[in-house]
Amino acid sequence: MDQETRDNLLKLFQSKLNEAMRFYLETCTRCGVCTEACHVYASMGQIKYIAAYRHEMVRRIYKKYFKGRGRLWPSVGEAKELTDMALEELYEAAYSCTGCRRCMVYCPFGIDTQMLMSIAKLLLIGANTEPEILTMLADTSIEKGKSLEDFKEGFLEGVKNLEVEVIKKWRIEAGETAIPVELEGADLLYVALAGAHSIVPAAAVFNAAGENWTLSFFEAVNFGAFVGDPTRTKLILDRIINEAKRLKVKEVCICECGTAYRVMKQLSGNQPFEVSSITEVHGRYLREGRIKLDRSKFKEGISYHDPCQMARNGGVIDEPRFVLQHLTDDFREMSPDPRYNWCCGGGGGLVALGEDTLDFRMKSSRVKVDQVREAGAKILATACENCHTQLSNLNDHYQMGVEVRFLSSMVADALAQ
Ligand code: SF4
Ligand code: SF4
Repeated sequence: MDQETRDNLLKLFQSKLNEAMRFYLETCTRCGVCTEACHVYASMGQIKYIAAYRHEMVRRIYKKYFKGRGRLWPSVGEAKELTDMALEELYEAAYSCTGCRRCMVYCPFGIDTQMLMSIAKLLLIGANTEPEILTMLADTSIEKGKSLEDFKEGFLEGVKNLEVEVIKKWRIEAGETAIPVELEGADLLYVALAGAHSIVPAAAVFNAAGENWTLSFFEAVNFGAFVGDPTRTKLILDRIINEAKRLKVKEVCICECGTAYRVMKQLSGNQPFEVSSITEVHGRYLREGRIKLDRSKFKEGISYHDPCQMARNGGVIDEPRFVLQHLTDDFREMSPDPRYNWCCGGGGGLVALGEDTLDFRMKSSRVKVDQVREAGAKILATACENCHTQLSNLNDHYQMGVEVRFLSSMVADALAQ
């Protein structure tokens, strides 16, 4: 690595050094409490997958360039030069971590591994060594925001074709639109993922509740967040914020995508609209009596996998359980305290990397498989696309024999007319 590249990367490192980050970098006592907390270590037993070990890859560079002791006596402070080899270690640390923050809830100081790995991911972007596909997907999303008119027609046609599926789930009155788009003054803007599975059930439930809603042109997923690029994350987010403001909606409801929800909820700043997840909206409809569910629809036991970005990181823990109470008498918790639930092993961009990470994802999530099996339910519900894909992969790989379902689609299937 030449000096100019190193200097540029160190500037990126510096840009991340706020008070919280310095606290995380300077506080670890190596107590080891986080060791067993990480599903990757618990499943694979390799030291490099301990949360504190991952931190150390970042901390050593910090000591070398940003702490007095490291600069004077690098070997004493375990400081480490930023080299190509160090970047490879950062890659290994960051892209084997799902950012689930389970280690953080165990750490007595609340050291946030996801934040520390965000330094690693930013350095990888600066050195052009991040997973290229994630950056390409992020750029495609950004481009879509710039040239809305170019894809509008195709999008509207695709949506029209889905309306018949929506009506099969919930009849609407003559003259009503099954999937409204571009409805200025709607109360709620629904931001879905690409694909009928994210639009049809949601639309049926909105219509059943009599919601004044409209569908976003943009997909919720934020690849900028997966790759750890703050600039791209914001550009992708801004497309939705601008659309919500243009349509003057009161609420932006994010589909079953944990990262999209967390990013919109925590990074959108002060806006003239509320942010909610679709699970929270379904809970509200049930509380207000706007929808009713037929509990006889699902005869098998149901357990629920808490998506880390929704539950531990986003605080949506009670609402899915409230919704599930309306779907079954046989709900089986996987963990006495959902905040300590195991990650599915698919977050942090790993599922988006597809086949390239499949072997690692299967090996690193054995503890999740054990947890699902112990719960003994036939239906495994979740509320995140990434988790759904990963759990489905685990189901096939380990022959768990469960049916992996989106919670929102179960709500739509159980709607009582
Ligand atoms: S639990 Fe916290 S303080 Fe202890 S080793 Fe892990 S990160 Fe460091
Ligand atoms: S954030 Fe999750 S995946 Fe990353 S080190 Fe902590 S427990 Fe492991």
